[in-house]
Amino acid sequence: MPRTISAHNPRTGEEDYEFAVSTREEIAAEAEKLRAAQPAWEAMGPEGRAAVMMRFADALEAAAPAIAAALAIDTGRQTVAWLEVNGCVGNIRGWAAKAPALFASLPSEVEPSFTPGVEIVPAYSAYPLFGAICPWNFPVILSHIDAVPALMAGCAALVKPSEITPRFVEPMREVLAQVPELPLAYIMGGPEVGQALIEEVDYICFTGSTATGRKVAEAAARQLIPANLELGGKDPMIITASADPEWAAGVALRSSIVATGQACQSIERIYVAREIADAFLAKLVEGAEAVELTYPDPAQGHLGPFIFPPQGAKVQAHIDEAKGKGARVLTGGLIEELGGGTYLRPTILTDVTPDMAVMREETFGPVLPVTVFDDIEDAIAQANDTEYGLSAAVLAASLEEAASIGARLDAGAISLQDGAMTSMVGDAANESRKSSGLGPSRMGNTGLLRFLRRQSLIRQTGQALTIDAYAEGARG
Ligand code: NAD
Repeated sequence: MPRTISAHNPRTGEEDYEFAVSTREEIAAEAEKLRAAQPAWEAMGPEGRAAVMMRFADALEAAAPAIAAALAIDTGRQTVAWLEVNGCVGNIRGWAAKAPALFASLPSEVEPSFTPGVEIVPAYSAYPLFGAICPWNFPVILSHIDAVPALMAGCAALVKPSEITPRFVEPMREVLAQVPELPLAYIMGGPEVGQALIEEVDYICFTGSTATGRKVAEAAARQLIPANLELGGKDPMIITASADPEWAAGVALRSSIVATGQACQSIERIYVAREIADAFLAKLVEGAEAVELTYPDPAQGHLGPFIFPPQGAKVQAHIDEAKGKGARVLTGGLIEELGGGTYLRPTILTDVTPDMAVMREETFGPVLPVTVFDDIEDAIAQANDTEYGLSAAVLAASLEEAASIGARLDAGAISLQDGAMTSMVGDAANESRKSSGLGPSRMGNTGLLRFLRRQSLIRQTGQALTIDAYAEGARG
């Protein structure tokens, strides 16, 4: 009998779904099947693959109600579940539309070499088997965000969704059955299945925590395969004295608490100029207190339960440690257990100091620690004083002012006059910095181009040398 894992329902606290963990043999067999299918897939060319991907998008769109329903159980949220499925459909159609032109733009002309008599002809081929290891916070979007451009590049794709949120896979497999030419498959399980996947593939994309990212990078190094890592963040938002405090409070609140703050690009630290701090905090508290939990009615309200129960305890520990070190809680601050789910109302902290965990470690909850600053230079230095470098945001009176500050922030994607835009803008190429990631951007053209290996056909148009050219005494 295969080993099974039980998945938990974040609204009820019940373990009400069970799935079989993929065995080592099944993973190897799936990889072999995909490898066998990949040459024909690559040979279809970008237009041929795009046509199949468009059918995949259509089938996924038709199955959206079933997939969004499964996802809504695993994540405890309905609107975001639909946004994820629709976003995934858009991602497939977007790459299918874009890829043929991207391939056509690749240099293919004969290039003269600076070695006399030699010409170089570029050629490109995809890494045969791509693998993805994915997190639980946006299960559908993040299980396909890299796989779709990899498929469009000509790779076959083997994906391991998070074992915390597995329910979408069953209806997704029914979608895949309608597109049999598509070399895409899922394997199921936890860390050991992730490690087994790394041993089977030629390129691994990982989205998840920084701690796990390091283990994935080590395993990829042992296999000598490229690893693209999209990891955690501690994104800062700077709000200058010229910004309108009410507008800034609205943007900051949304950017911090959407999806219960369980997003890598959530704003997790706010630096506000003293001139507007009181007005800003008053509006922030007002906005936070108007936010409603999606309990008891899952179709009403803004903030759902924590998807992964231990996350609630971790967030509470950050709040408690900050309080113990002198932080003030302006609103929120206490985890609530409701109907079996774990919830937290938006929590605003002031009098925070840089040594607190809530200022240094990823919190991944609806918590807004606010620091008041007197000098913009100090705000920039504090915003950059972090091991992370995923993204950041600046709010000011003008785009010009925001841009001049944003350019000095040490992160991959900087939202100006808004926050956490990385989640909404899928084509803004950026590379995460420091402990937030490694490798080429998943956004923009490199999202696909990273999966192509450049080959050079080196033509000798003159005389090939003989061994006598290397004979001792031949020089000069
Ligand atoms: P996680 O690191 O716990 O797990 C991610 C995946 O890795 C899961 O599928 C898990 O089964 C697998 N895994 C765990 N241990 C492994 C190992 N030793 N070897 C191989 N695979 C292993 O992350 P999570 O808690 O699921 O997700 C939340 C984290 O993801 C947060 O830190 C968040 O910031 C990050 N994240 C980053 C981005 C981004 O684009 N940068 C996007 C979303 C989430």
